[in-house]
Amino acid sequence: MTSIAANLQAVRERIGAACRAAGRPADSVSLLAVSKTWPASALRDAAGAGQLAFGENYVQEALDKIATLQALALEWHFIGPLQSNKTRAVAENFAWVHSVDRLKIAERLAAQRPPNLPPLNVCLQVNVSGEASKSGCAPAEAPAVAAAIVRLPGLRLRGLMAIPEPTDDTALQRRRFASLREALATISAQTGSPLDTLSMGMSDDLEAAIMEGATMVRVGTAIFGKRDYTT
Ligand SMILES: *Cc1c(COP(=O)(O)O)cnc(C)c1O
Repeated sequence: MTSIAANLQAVRERIGAACRAAGRPADSVSLLAVSKTWPASALRDAAGAGQLAFGENYVQEALDKIATLQALALEWHFIGPLQSNKTRAVAENFAWVHSVDRLKIAERLAAQRPPNLPPLNVCLQVNVSGEASKSGCAPAEAPAVAAAIVRLPGLRLRGLMAIPEPTDDTALQRRRFASLREALATISAQTGSPLDTLSMGMSDDLEAAIMEGATMVRVGTAIFGKRDYTT
């Protein structure tokens, strides 16, 4: 077994244990393997171990891997900051975008999603950490932005995503994740659309996220190892 396969198995066991602790079914949480900075060969190893959904942060890096690994029919999720001039490549090549943080980006993705593809699944990224984090739309604005996204063609609003500030304080982790869960409940009620996705939890805090209702955890380091940004 490659170390990636062994790491994947360990992450699946952590997810299973967290689901048991939370009294949730094991299949209520899906695993997104965050492969930014890793070469196509690492993704191939993970795919060989049954992992088919991958999260990428950088558009050009992702496009290269998507082309290289085309034959594997992987599911690609864009999770990084998204600038207006990169939306077309994302709309044309990904199945999901977790990092929609303003209406303008959603409108561009909607206009640029090719009509022959299924709707692009999107999550609205919400800043649940206030001043401590700059990314994501303000919680107070999220219901109005979500309601506008729901009306766009070519997109399917699936739920919310957050990246809380890193902390070892598990009570604080849980409060941040709980606030995203509460925001999803509010927005589901207001828009009347069935939002089913809470994209939250990473290598260091996936247990807290699952306790608070995460349906998709985004895990990089625990699968692929520590990233090296120097090369
Ligand atoms: C890099 C990244 C992750 C994975 O983080 P790890 O700590 O390596 O598990 C998850 N979500 C987003 C948005 C990321 O950029």
